[in-house]
Amino acid sequence: MADKSFLDWPFLEPAHRELAASLDAWAADNLGGIDEADVDAACRELVRRLAAESWLDHCVPAAYGGASEKLDVRALCLIRETLACHSGLADFAFAMQGLGSGAISLYGSDDIRSAYLPAVRTGQKIAAFALSEPEAGSDVAALATTAVRDGNGWRIDGEKTWISNGGIADYYTVFARTGEAPGARGLSAFVVDADTPGLEIAERIEVIAPHPLARLTFDNCQVSADRLLGAPGEGFKVAMATLDIFRSTVGAAALGFARHALDLALDRAATRELFGGPLADLQMIQAKLADMALAVDASALLVYRAAWTKDVKADRVTREASMAKLHATESAQTVIDEAVQIFGGQGVVSGAAVEKLYREIRALRIYEGASEVQKVVISKAALAARES
Ligand SMILES: Cc1cc2nc3c(=O)[nH]c(=O)nc-3n(C[C@H](O)[C@H](O)[C@H](O)COP(=O)(O)OP(=O)(O)OC[C@H]3O[C@@H](n4cnc5c(N)ncnc54)[C@H](O)[C@@H]3O)c2cc1C
Repeated sequence: MADKSFLDWPFLEPAHRELAASLDAWAADNLGGIDEADVDAACRELVRRLAAESWLDHCVPAAYGGASEKLDVRALCLIRETLACHSGLADFAFAMQGLGSGAISLYGSDDIRSAYLPAVRTGQKIAAFALSEPEAGSDVAALATTAVRDGNGWRIDGEKTWISNGGIADYYTVFARTGEAPGARGLSAFVVDADTPGLEIAERIEVIAPHPLARLTFDNCQVSADRLLGAPGEGFKVAMATLDIFRSTVGAAALGFARHALDLALDRAATRELFGGPLADLQMIQAKLADMALAVDASALLVYRAAWTKDVKADRVTREASMAKLHATESAQTVIDEAVQIFGGQGVVSGAAVEKLYREIRALRIYEGASEVQKVVISKAALAARES
């Protein structure tokens, strides 16, 4: 029986505990029978199932059919942790509906919110978040895609890459340079429908844990003025405010992967017989299991601290979210690696549960800010606190 004691921590409210328990039960019965070899079809099907059971209600505010007045980060984290424990692709499908619509929830006009958020919630529209470019990943200020005023609207030209849901999304939240000021202060955010002339899927990208991913090109792509999110020049703020919510949830997904790996390792250590007794009788294995359990609890504390802080105490939680993402993703990689070790040869067989986790965790240390970027954020916050 997996350890659920974290659900009693004071960061969470009774409704969160009920949410985690009911999702866990639902996921155990409803995420099977999907052929993940066709990731596009699998993701569409997962979005459909998540919407049908109202789990996507947590991705949008209540005014547009959502579950709570504003996005409840603790609920988002619990959902991602729980889904990740059951299925990495289900977590991905859920996360992208939230990340791809977050900027609309935070900065969209009422018309844009009404046009997109209810459809994201019901799964009628699949969402995507298009920030990264070939020459601008960690260095967002180097973004080169441009949006130029053209008549009543804007003309977008450039390229985006590593875009999750690229190829299956119905719309993209696109960040482009509008030039109000140099660097990060000259960016703006737009909602661009996938069928807008000039927007093409230039390349599908295959990664070690497959999910829909693409490089997009924008060539004389015209969008109307009402597609702007926030004011011109506010794009960086829009992106960072969105990541302020979703970075903690990446930590939560990593936590779900790590918790699953720990559970698998505990079962294996308790049941695998060697040297005349269970593997778990060996002290070096006990030390591994202790380190793994400690890493999981430490990550959970940081993830739910960040989520609680965002929900209850503060508007921006950049430092807490960075700590949560950094620790949870890095330590999940170690926990999963140790689980593979405990499984021995069985751990590296293609399709084995721990082998899948080993591939699934890797990208989380890179996207939504690589671990080194999180360290820059955390050290800046520590130095600023010293001066204040
Ligand atoms: C599976 C996957 C899904 C993704 N989905 C999306 C998406 O949906 N939307 C989107 O916009 N982007 C997405 N990305 C892109 C992702 O956010 C970028 O890959 C990430 O920001 C890193 O950018 P880069 O790949 O260009 O690496 P680079 O910016 O070239 O960085 C390479 C490495 O340099 C190191 N580094 C970076 N900055 C520093 C620093 N300040 N100090 C020291 N070392 C540093 C890090 O180790 C980093 O991994 C996705 C990426 C992956 C792998």
